[in-house]
Amino acid sequence: MSKKIAILGGGESGVGTAILAKQKGYEVLVSDFGKLKETYKKVLTDFDIVWEEGGHTEAEILKAAIVMKSPGIPDKAPIVKAILAHGIPVISEIEFAARYTDAMLIGITGSNGKTTTTSLIGHLLTQAKLNVGIAGNIGDSFAKMVAEQSIDTYVLEISSFQLDGVVDFAPHIAVITNITPDHLDRYEYEFDNYIAAKFRIAMNQTPEDYLIYDADDPVITDWLKKHPVRSKLVPFSMHQKLDYGAYKEDNKIYINTDNNHFSMTIQDLALKGQHNTKNAMAASTVANLLSIRKTTIRESLEGFQGVEHRLEQVLKIGNVQYINDSKATNVNATFYALDSMSAPTVWIVGGVDKGNDYRDLYPLINEKVKAIICLGVDNAKLMSHFGNMVDIIIETQSMTEAVKIAYKVTEKGDNVLLSPACASFDLFDNYEDRGRQFKNAVRNL
Ligand code: ADP
Repeated sequence: MSKKIAILGGGESGVGTAILAKQKGYEVLVSDFGKLKETYKKVLTDFDIVWEEGGHTEAEILKAAIVMKSPGIPDKAPIVKAILAHGIPVISEIEFAARYTDAMLIGITGSNGKTTTTSLIGHLLTQAKLNVGIAGNIGDSFAKMVAEQSIDTYVLEISSFQLDGVVDFAPHIAVITNITPDHLDRYEYEFDNYIAAKFRIAMNQTPEDYLIYDADDPVITDWLKKHPVRSKLVPFSMHQKLDYGAYKEDNKIYINTDNNHFSMTIQDLALKGQHNTKNAMAASTVANLLSIRKTTIRESLEGFQGVEHRLEQVLKIGNVQYINDSKATNVNATFYALDSMSAPTVWIVGGVDKGNDYRDLYPLINEKVKAIICLGVDNAKLMSHFGNMVDIIIETQSMTEAVKIAYKVTEKGDNVLLSPACASFDLFDNYEDRGRQFKNAVRNL
């Protein structure tokens, strides 16, 4: 008799897992509380995979030997509680797919910079002509790639929710970009639980594996002191010169790992801003560990186009640069966006406030921001925090209007920055929709 797997959630990771499980001989049930996309229904039907939507048939799910839970479903969902009460193991897609590949695995996690760093590493390795799969949280399903392609090296963006469901997963190279409080509603409002989730990326690593991390991040370094890992530590720093790892000194980054040394002028990096210098250090450290040629690393870092909705240069109108940083859904991301502004900035901020503490932004607002446009359901809080800090502060509930106001208050040489520091679900479908609406409004000016 074949083993049964129940898959909770019929999105990208659920459907990908279903395809791989079917290929490996499992009896598969995909079960979704909501509606499945038509494209996914068709794929499942084509693969002869049983699926249900609009609710979970508990009796069938409890017959499974193993359950794959999609990252969006919290542990406190009644069906998950029932599964756990029956002692059925609940794992994530990353865990399941990793069991069926011998490829080199590079895993990237952190509170901010995952997608950028994952894309940058993917770009570097692709330029080096390696056979690379870029998957995970970034978009495409890792499991589906394992089922359908023959890949030598996977670059995986991994969220804390994916790491919650890890048992044996052990990347050869792990990257933790940084850790700041986020998603605490899923971690009993305990920051330590969230940090522990992030460090699960290293929990099965051996001394042959590497953990690359931000040595300037006290959350990471304090945790490592108390919870040592077995992997080889590769720190990167903007402030300390390091014999092993990566660091910035004056206007250059330096990477020293084992027998490989690389350096590059920061001005030549395509991605601007301090945060991106860190992302570039993390990515080139990976490339260095894999002994990729220096010219390839340099050309890749010079040529990388960036990722949509992350400090994306949209358009210059009348010598005013419009920048879309819609993916900045927390204060830390917005901090780095404001930090990287080199001209007076009209800042569009707001959305669903996740209990934000804006105090870290005050010095940057004083230094760089000439006008604030509050856009979203929690404008009152923004107005009260920033009301006295700038001459112009206006609130609206419309992106088109926000952009029109921005246009009116700018002068030659200014920037208009959308960097909301908040979630997007009040006025938009998601951050992509918010970013696209911003870009459309800018193009229609
Ligand atoms: P993630 O996938 O972790 O959400 P992204 O690469 O999509 O990260 O970037 C999310 C937001 O954080 C963007 O606004 C981006 O400009 C900003 N960001 C990117 N890298 C970093 C970093 N290393 N530290 C802080 N913020 C960053």
